[in-house]
Amino acid sequence: MRAILEVENLNLSLAVPGGILQAIRGLSLKVETGETLCIVGESGSGKSLTALSLMGLLPQTAVLKSDRMHFMGHDLTRLSDREFANLRGDRISMIFQEPMTSLNPCYTIGNQLMEVYLRHKNGGTARARDRAAEILNEVGIANPETRMIQYPHQLSGGLRQRVMIAMALICEPNLIIADEPTTALDVTIQLQVLSLLDSLRKKHGTAMIFITHDLGVVAQIATRAAVMYAGQIIETAPIEQLFKSPAHPYTRGLIDCIPAPGKTNRNQPLKTIPGEVPDLTRDLSGCAFRSRCSKAGDVCFEEIDNSEIAANHFCQCIFPES
Ligand code: ADP
Ligand code: MG
Repeated sequence: MRAILEVENLNLSLAVPGGILQAIRGLSLKVETGETLCIVGESGSGKSLTALSLMGLLPQTAVLKSDRMHFMGHDLTRLSDREFANLRGDRISMIFQEPMTSLNPCYTIGNQLMEVYLRHKNGGTARARDRAAEILNEVGIANPETRMIQYPHQLSGGLRQRVMIAMALICEPNLIIADEPTTALDVTIQLQVLSLLDSLRKKHGTAMIFITHDLGVVAQIATRAAVMYAGQIIETAPIEQLFKSPAHPYTRGLIDCIPAPGKTNRNQPLKTIPGEVPDLTRDLSGCAFRSRCSKAGDVCFEEIDNSEIAANHFCQCIFPES
């Protein structure tokens, strides 16, 4: 399979009151057509900023450096704002956690969907309206014509998230970036939205980057996963491999924290990894996880490379689990 997205050595820093915050450090990733790469990590590990870097939507204060950021023949580091805007919503689109932050409360659902279509495609208003109805239908919204004349506040959270998905898909993008798209939903609606995204990806052969802090969600939707910690990807593997043989002590810790139905005692407190994520404005040389790691030794103060420990399984640790 050919990679449609290739990122090498992405570094992102932000000026903050306490100094310079190194939010992303040496991140490399590849996404192939038809796969779902899950980026998983605790809050603050740099997942959303990674997504925003790929969308060209970084805050003004961010400084991005990268050896390579290629998407379908475009060098993303060299695109003008206008060229990036032409790609967004057309070839690459994003689904956010909270639909109300991206839906405009003043316009109907139909108008907002049509606007995205008309921004990128020829065919006029009539074609845009047909396409809007078609895509609402495809994301499982009954009576699309009725929904199209409604405003966002008239829909439930689950329906609004489906509208967001419809908006992301209306121009048939090659890559969807979904940033915690189901975190604000109840568990049953979450399951419906996950299976919808998965079936749409399969049907259209779209590639997806799915961002979540929840390994349970990763197990449901990923074909491959990248585990982020303190701005770095510390482990990447095909999904079965990651759950079967997690190599980084952090990944192992995350997996051990998932309650197992029938096995975990209900009265037992939920497991957590002790300690805290390091301050990203401080010196971050060596392994960022070492202060929380039972295996850590003096060598963990030195720089560690990502190495391939099994086929397509990369880990950034001197003492990987075996
Ligand atoms: P995640 O999505 O994994 O929770 P983020 O990518 O949002 O993490 O953030 C990574 C780090 O960058 C965090 O420490 C966060 O506080 C910081 N950060 C994110 N956005 C900004 C911003 N606009 N200005 C300053 N710091 C930010
Ligand atoms: Mg986030």
